[in-house]
Order: sequence, then C-alpha cells, then structure tokens
Amino acid sequence: MQKLEQLYEGKAKKVFRTDDPELFIVDYKDDATAFNGVKKGTILGKGAINNRVTNFLMQMLEKKGIPTHYVKEISDRETIVKKVQIIPLEVIVRNIAAGSLSKRLGLKEGTKLKSTVLEFCYKDDALGDPMVNDYHIQALGIATPAEIKLISDYSLRVNDILTEYLKDVNIELIDFKLEFGKLSDGTIVLADEISPDTCRFWDSKTGEKLDKDRFRRDMGGVEDAYKEILKRLLGE
Ligand code: ADP
Ligand code: UDP
Repeated sequence: MQKLEQLYEGKAKKVFRTDDPELFIVDYKDDATAFNGVKKGTILGKGAINNRVTNFLMQMLEKKGIPTHYVKEISDRETIVKKVQIIPLEVIVRNIAAGSLSKRLGLKEGTKLKSTVLEFCYKDDALGDPMVNDYHIQALGIATPAEIKLISDYSLRVNDILTEYLKDVNIELIDFKLEFGKLSDGTIVLADEISPDTCRFWDSKTGEKLDKDRFRRDMGGVEDAYKEILKRLLGE
C-alpha cells in the first residue's frame, strides 16, 4: 500500500489517496479547534491517541454488526480506511444534557434526559453546521428517508454499545458526534472518528470531564484527560 498525494487537510486530520482506488489513509494531527475554528491550539499527543481510540472503538463496533470504514492501523497516527463519500451530516446522540443542548433548552449540564436525543447538523463550516431535521435532509437531497432511517438506527445502536462498554471502565457517555459515508457501491458505513474530540466522556464516579471540553473551556489537564481515556480503553 502506497501513500500518495494529500487530498484534504481538515482541522484534525489529513486524508491521503493511496494506490488502491477504494482506500484512503487518514493521518491524525495534534491540532485542536473549537467554536467552528475560532479557538485554535495544540494538544500534545492527541493525534496518536485519537487514532488508537477511534480504531479500537470502530473494531469493537464492527464486531457488533455496525459496518465501518476501518481497515488497518499502519502507524501511531495513520490508518487505512475505506474511501467513502461523506454524507454531509453530523449525527449527534445525547444521553445527558451538555454543551449546545444545555444552552438551547436551558437545561443544567448533567441533567439526565428522559430518553435519548438524536440531532442532525448540516456539515458546512461556512454556515456553522446548522441543525436540520428529516425534512431539510430530504429537501436538500442529502439523504433519502430510508438512508436517514438506517443512519438513525446505526447511531442509536452505537450509543447502546458504547454506553454499555464504557460503563465497565467508569466512563459515562454524555453525548457524541458520528459521520457516515457511502462506499462506491452505495453501502452506508460509519466513518470519520470516535474520540475525546468528538464525544463527551465523564468519569462516572467523580464527574470529571475527560474530553475536549477541557480545551474548549480552558480547564487545564487536557493532555492527561486524553491519556486517561487511552489508558481506560486500551489499558496503556
Ligand atoms: P474537518 O473537515 O471537520 O476539519 P477533519 O480534520 O477530521 O475534519 O478532516 C477529516 C475529513 O475526512 C472530514 O471532512 C471527514 O468527513 C472526512 N473523512 C472521514 N473519514 C473518511 C473516509 N473514510 N473517506 C473520505 N473522507 C473521510
Ligand atoms: N461535536 C463534534 N463536532 C462538532 C460538533 C459537536 O464532535 O462539530 C460533538 C461534541 O464533542 C459533543 C457532541 O458532538 O460530544 C455535542 O456537541 P454540542 O452540540 O453540545 O456542541 P458544542 O458544545 O461542542 O458546541
């Protein structure tokens, strides 16, 4: 497998073409951004941790029947993934009120939601990723009703699997963001990453935040929080 030219550089990862037309290589960076790119910084070691955490969780989900883009980890920061056309949606799943939901609905952070909340945001940095509903998604031609149903079902299953798994390592899964993409044959798979950048993880005993909120909110201990997640999940 040969790494060819860079196709894209995002806020947290670079994507490279390979000599296999169906495979890409993603390369995780230490760069961190928040508030739609307004706040910028570096979290030392983040790229390697997010690469390993994502791959660990994707492999676990794959075993439990969720199709993913994961193929093979090739270095501490690089992974071979199946090439997909990303469906421009951020699928957000919430168990406990936090972040933008707390602000929008006036719910104290940490309030347990009576049932799981699923939200879709249209992935468009220039528009600030506005929230959309099924009607917008269909009207904009982003996904069909059947595709929305499949993406929703997968996302709720991912929530069940991850919530259960994380309980055993004393992590409460507050909320997270998923992205899905289409393989060249049209199959929808889970793509992008699942990491402390894209999930809220709270220590179940102390309530301590072990995720990117430490960076967003200048709480300190950012690197240690990422390391702690790696340790609890992979034992390292
Ligand atoms: P952003 O684009 O939001 O700054 P990243 O820095 O994480 O985010 O960039 C990675 C980009 O690669 C994202 O746009 C993501 O949607 C895309 N991506 C993730 N997995 C795949 C994949 N398997 N195939 C193609 N693109 C992918
Ligand atoms: N999230 C993400 N990328 C985004 C927006 C949100 O990974 O562009 C994740 C975020 O880490 C959190 C969940 O989605 O786990 C819900 O985020 P929220 O809507 O509360 O937004 P935020 O408070 O991050 O602005």
